Amino acid sequence: MTTFQSLGLSAPLLKAAEKLGFESPTEVQNKVIPLLLNDKTDLVALAQTGTGKTAAFGFPMLQQIDFGTKKTQGLILSPTRELCLQITNEMEHYGSEIRQINVVAIYGGANITEQAKKIKRGAHIVVATPGRLKDMIRRKLVDISAINFCVLDEADEMLNMGFYEDIKSILTHTPDKKSSWLFSATMPPEVNTIAKKFMTAPIEITIGTKNAGTKNVDHQFFVVGGRERYAALRAVVGMNPDIFGCVFCRTKIETQKVAEKLIQDGHKAAAIHGDLSQNQRDAVMQSFRKKKIQLLIATDVAARGIDVDDITHVINYQLPDEIETYTHRSGRTGRAGKLGTSIIFVTKSDRRKIKLIENKLQTKLTELEMPSPEQIFKNKIQHWVEQVKNTPLKGDLQPYLDSAFKGLEELDKETLIELILSKEFRNFDLNPKSLSLSEGKNNEKRSDRKINAPKDKDRFFINLGARDQYEWTTLKDFIRSYLKLGMDDVFQVEVMKNFSFFSTHKKHRDLVLKSFENLNLDSRRISVELTKKGKTFSPNKKKKKSGFKKKF
Ligand code: AMP
Repeated sequence: MTTFQSLGLSAPLLKAAEKLGFESPTEVQNKVIPLLLNDKTDLVALAQTGTGKTAAFGFPMLQQIDFGTKKTQGLILSPTRELCLQITNEMEHYGSEIRQINVVAIYGGANITEQAKKIKRGAHIVVATPGRLKDMIRRKLVDISAINFCVLDEADEMLNMGFYEDIKSILTHTPDKKSSWLFSATMPPEVNTIAKKFMTAPIEITIGTKNAGTKNVDHQFFVVGGRERYAALRAVVGMNPDIFGCVFCRTKIETQKVAEKLIQDGHKAAAIHGDLSQNQRDAVMQSFRKKKIQLLIATDVAARGIDVDDITHVINYQLPDEIETYTHRSGRTGRAGKLGTSIIFVTKSDRRKIKLIENKLQTKLTELEMPSPEQIFKNKIQHWVEQVKNTPLKGDLQPYLDSAFKGLEELDKETLIELILSKEFRNFDLNPKSLSLSEGKNNEKRSDRKINAPKDKDRFFINLGARDQYEWTTLKDFIRSYLKLGMDDVFQVEVMKNFSFFSTHKKHRDLVLKSFENLNLDSRRISVELTKKGKTFSPNKKKKKSGFKKKF
């Protein structure tokens, strides 16, 4: 077994690795660290997140930086704010035994002056998102003209996000003589282009199979009907009561709908999507990291940078268009040496995509049979039994056990167990209809009426919008709580810059119109009107229109 010492790391870095509990180098560290310590070379490394790649470039960079000067010598570019902060945090840990070290994160959506101040104090290493860095270079708030090391982390993600031009422009501000290290989970042609254009004879290193999902991930799929996705999700969650998972949907609306249904079914779930403010996203992520949320329902964009080590399952509620995106999704599980499962819900017509994934990953995907409701319930009981058996004894109960023994003494073991189970699962409806995995006609109708049936709904205009700091979830919550309506009673909320639209069931028409009649917010009258075929319906249009103008 190789050790960090045998890779040539200096004493402060060895001590930091020990403090972090790193016993031995990972594969990428074994391959990359000696190379980057001994050769001034450019490098292209194909490695997923979770393989230990941050330390693979972080340790060699830290070992070669001159901490006696305040000059910026290392630059790490990463696609998202979350990743940027994570890398900074990791680098600070790896350099915790270096006294003068200063690593500064710069990213969009935060105060630029604060970040500039930190840079001015002297940043040996700058970890940045491309957009914000470009901006700060333009304003001369950061100087990267003397760097010796440049890392492009998650290069495929950065290019996916459209940062090509920004990266190109940033690199023109760096010296020609530097070591460039590019890390990417996949190798689409665009990454190759970057490598060819901006690197000199890079050494290429592949961890695991090229373009493959991590070895620790078991890839599985269910063939489902178009309307059975949620039922399949319920089945997966039912069979895996300890699941700590990430469910990927294609749209923001879908993430919200799935999260709401899961919450209604008693699970700890939350949606994360681009319409949430950065603060809201941070709050959701924090709850997820602390496991207060068991299921995170995400769009691909919002999930970028999710870096949580213990995710047990990744669920592809719908398949993404690009197989590369599937690789990214499934790479969220099976990390840091743990095993993970990636499950795909695929319709019959999309089944051919499974073959494409198999070819790309060069691995066989396992088709799963949908478990029966009875199997799920049996599994729940088994899980409960395990939990009971593993419950630590509460010692201070001892003096009170006698009265419980006495109270239950006439019951035989079978009756006692049946009674305890009845109490435990008293809210669990075991009739075949409620257990049914298919969403069935009744449910279909209900959700159709709720979401799609135009005859039963009214559409309203409201003069609140994005400029009032609303996005669709917060506006939905505001309207719902103001009207004291239930979770699904306000739907199809669409937020524009100055105004928005929302729908409710026809039966709520009077409630909506009356409730908003005299509402003032910040001395502005809030106006809600019924719309007709997407247009604002108003008996006295001209008058109302000029009224709006005045208000805004
Ligand atoms: P990364 O691929 O850099 O995102 O690293 C994934 C996780 O593995 C991080 O939490 C690291 O702190 C951890 N890690 C990195 N190297 C090692 C190692 N040699 N042994 C154990 N854990 C490690």
